[in-house]
Amino acid sequence: MKVFDCVSEVRDECHDRAGRRDVYLTFDDGSNPLCTPDVLDVLAEHRVPATFCVIGAYVEDQPKLIERVFAEGHEIANHTMTHPDLSGCEPDEVRREILDVNRIIRMACPQAAVRHMRAPYGIWTDEVVAEVAKAGLAALDWSVDPRDWSRPGVDAIVSAVLASVQPGAIVLFHDGCPPGESGRCSHAGLRDQTLMAHSRLIPALHESGFVISSLPQPH
Ligand SMILES: [Zn+2]
Repeated sequence: MKVFDCVSEVRDECHDRAGRRDVYLTFDDGSNPLCTPDVLDVLAEHRVPATFCVIGAYVEDQPKLIERVFAEGHEIANHTMTHPDLSGCEPDEVRREILDVNRIIRMACPQAAVRHMRAPYGIWTDEVVAEVAKAGLAALDWSVDPRDWSRPGVDAIVSAVLASVQPGAIVLFHDGCPPGESGRCSHAGLRDQTLMAHSRLIPALHESGFVISSLPQPH
């Protein structure tokens, strides 16, 4: 059995003590019918897995897309129902934001085991971490953020990741956008830079000896 060094309550890196150079790709704020299929295509082309932190309200609209994410070997994680800043929510609202997504993912794709939850904006409070644990999930953060959502350019995304990636890194990307920015979600080019960056980034990571892996089971 592998032993992973993932002891913090909110996991932002995940080191394999066997010394593998694993890195983990994560995509937030989908599923988005205009962006997620293209991201899935580029991952399939390079045969690498990722974790998709999905917003429940979108899963309700896109159950087939969630089935495809799962069928292609990716992990589906909880990114709340409506993407609020949970630090400003009442406790029962926090609970509902987390539990409703699990229920909706189960309805859309009963085979998918949801193991991780990522808080919107990476804003964690003790209450949120406690609710996540009560829901049977592990809190998932990130260690590398190329800020792809701000569309800084493909070169900037690629070089930001390559400059800071190290074994165990969890890298944050976006394959959609939160409901509060829904005007932008209708734009087909919304995540084109993210997509183009991956066509270069995945081979570059491989050339540097990194192994793009699925997140290990939380303890
Ligand atoms: Zn988000």
